Amino acid sequence: MTTASTITAPAVRTRQCPLCEAPAGEACQPKPSGDHLARYLDAYTAGQLTKAYMARVLGELVVVDACAVITIPAQRGEQ
Ligand SMILES: [Zn+2]
Repeated sequence: MTTASTITAPAVRTRQCPLCEAPAGEACQPKPSGDHLARYLDAYTAGQLTKAYMARVLGELVVVDACAVITIPAQRGEQ
């Protein structure tokens, strides 16, 4: 089932973070689990994230910066 709350972005962690070099499969920040915006942008540029998803991610941010860490609820559901 796909609802807004179950949308996750595993693609974000299929690549190394270009900012902090967290390896593929690992979060940039352990608690709360989150990833740098730079990583989202990298995945988006590679065509692994949808424009709609990026819009959701950016909508959660107060400060938009490559080193911002994304810990949006949608992402916390993933393993
Ligand atoms: Zn990172």
